[in-house]
Amino acid sequence: MKIAASEQASTAGNGFGNNLLRALKPEDLALLEPLLQDWQADAGTVLYEPGDNVQCAYFPCGPSLVSFIVVLDDGRAVETALIGREGAVGGIVSQGRLPAYARAVVQFPGPFLRIQAADLERAKASSPSLRHLFARYADCVLAQVFQSVACNAAHSIEQRTVKWLMAAIDRTGDHDIPLTQEQLAGMMGVGRSYVSRVIQSLKSRDVLETRRGGVRVKNFDELGSLSCGCNDALRRHFDQVLAGVYPSPEESSAQKAQSDGRRPGSRMRE
Ligand SMILES: [Zn+2]
Repeated sequence: MKIAASEQASTAGNGFGNNLLRALKPEDLALLEPLLQDWQADAGTVLYEPGDNVQCAYFPCGPSLVSFIVVLDDGRAVETALIGREGAVGGIVSQGRLPAYARAVVQFPGPFLRIQAADLERAKASSPSLRHLFARYADCVLAQVFQSVACNAAHSIEQRTVKWLMAAIDRTGDHDIPLTQEQLAGMMGVGRSYVSRVIQSLKSRDVLETRRGGVRVKNFDELGSLSCGCNDALRRHFDQVLAGVYPSPEESSAQKAQSDGRRPGSRMRE
């Protein structure tokens, strides 16, 4: 596992920028808190390769975003699920230390909280309510995978590109999206030229502009009108199963404004 940047054994200053952790009961949060470590990752950091023994679970915080990618036997890699601060990767939905099935890659850099898998298992064993919350999250992850299968099979490359951009904005609250056409193509398992055509088309309609290392959305409403309904369907399921956990652009904007102004310190529960 590549550890990108700083590591420190403290959650101080993080403000629990992960909605799944914020949804925990106070006693469950108290159980996990001493076990969580602050961790930072750069874009492209691989958390697991298929077959890796999952030693740690990761909770993306703030804008951090991880995608699960399945590598096919012809070498193409296809994104199957996107996990941001609404969730976690590794050992949350499974029992015990199991090998990873998909590659987990950091798409958006930022802060994470991580926990040793063995510590997480002990905590889950001692708290039925912790197990219950993670079981509900597992249901949401399954819904996301179902939706992703349908999306990859039925929706156009333009719709899927827009879905990614909207998912990014939901989490960062920022219309500046540091995703290259190369990254977008990689996530969707298509050649870069397909994504380039989509980006050029969106650019010609004044929906976005390209910039070094990413794109900037100029017309958010127009972009939203071009997306498939997959993100919205998933949000509705999250809202029914884990209310308040799925990120919204409004929440992200508020969080961004707060972190631009001062370091987040509050540990608010929703
Ligand atoms: Zn779709």
